[in-house]
Amino acid sequence: MKRVYNFSAGPSMLPEAVLRRAADEMLDYKGCGQSVMEMSHRSSEYEGIISSAENLLREVMGIPCNYKVLFLQGGAATQFAMVPMNLMNKNHKADFVLTGQWATKAYKEAARYGDAHVVASSKDKTFTYIPELDPSQFSKDADYFHICLNNTIYGTVYQKLPQTGNVPLVGDVSSCILSKPLDVSKFGVLYAGAQKNMGPAGLTTVIVREDLIGNAMDITPTMLNYKTHADHGSMYNTPPCYSIYICMLVLDWLKNTIGGLSEMEKINRKKAGMIYDFLDSSKLFRGTVVPKDRSLMNIPFVTGNTEMDAKFVAAAKAEGFVNLKGHRTVGGMRASVYNAMPVEGVEKLVAFMTEFERKNM
Ligand SMILES: *Cc1c(COP(=O)(O)O)cnc(C)c1O
Repeated sequence: MKRVYNFSAGPSMLPEAVLRRAADEMLDYKGCGQSVMEMSHRSSEYEGIISSAENLLREVMGIPCNYKVLFLQGGAATQFAMVPMNLMNKNHKADFVLTGQWATKAYKEAARYGDAHVVASSKDKTFTYIPELDPSQFSKDADYFHICLNNTIYGTVYQKLPQTGNVPLVGDVSSCILSKPLDVSKFGVLYAGAQKNMGPAGLTTVIVREDLIGNAMDITPTMLNYKTHADHGSMYNTPPCYSIYICMLVLDWLKNTIGGLSEMEKINRKKAGMIYDFLDSSKLFRGTVVPKDRSLMNIPFVTGNTEMDAKFVAAAKAEGFVNLKGHRTVGGMRASVYNAMPVEGVEKLVAFMTEFERKNM
């Protein structure tokens, strides 16, 4: 068996130890004679799985007790509608910073339900930076302020959070959740599709402050109301059972093998640092993002020559470094180095890039 190093932006790699454990438990989960995929979500075995997943997430992230953790479906994209339906309910107004495609989609969806106001945008330079925010441009009466913390496509990340005072900050953390410690108490809502850093596709995690639950717009479908899921422990209907189980294994790995988010951050800094150091010294490749806003998770880079880019992506693939092609709107390459990418995978990629440069300069 030969496994590749997968640099995909998502779905992405899972820790090999998690996959092995899932394989071991596939046919018979802890002596109950069936797979997690087959069992009732109301069974005591499954109750144990979903409550461990929640408890581990609370522990690993340090989630305060006045926040609910919801395990939902529909992807982060469904949150683009759920957030306004549940939160845009007092002054029917919210602020947005446009730092890429996902942030823009969240803004456009919210604009269907109320007054969506753009505070700042980095579209003028293809989202290669995080714009400076001028608090005098913030709406004092906004029901929430939305940011996309790590911009998966463009490879930028907020180094400091906007100071929104009493206006709840809402963060799309799909591509940076669990990559380093995050102060949950600074947010009203955090949401993430699982398929980048938490587990397989099909699960969306929402962390929501309790006082923001229960005021959804009248038109809100039952399934899109946070209260429905909060009141039923994410079991109003059948949850994405197997994805939650894998997420539980990932969280167990983060806690017990890695040693928590501070340790994870050190490893992620090391991995991203190796790639950025190489890009900064390379004569063939260069990063596309302004250095101060560089993401630890998603690293876009180019040669400046589309034929050379294509040659590199093909040569890398042949060596077992897959999914390095950049997003169609940026071109070039993108290396996504989420938690599960081993340090060794990055070392080997950098060695390969060094060799590719030597042969092609
Ligand atoms: C991947 C991604 C999304 C979309 O997630 P889905 O689960 O496919 O809906 C939204 N926001 C960010 C930041 C992402 O990385």
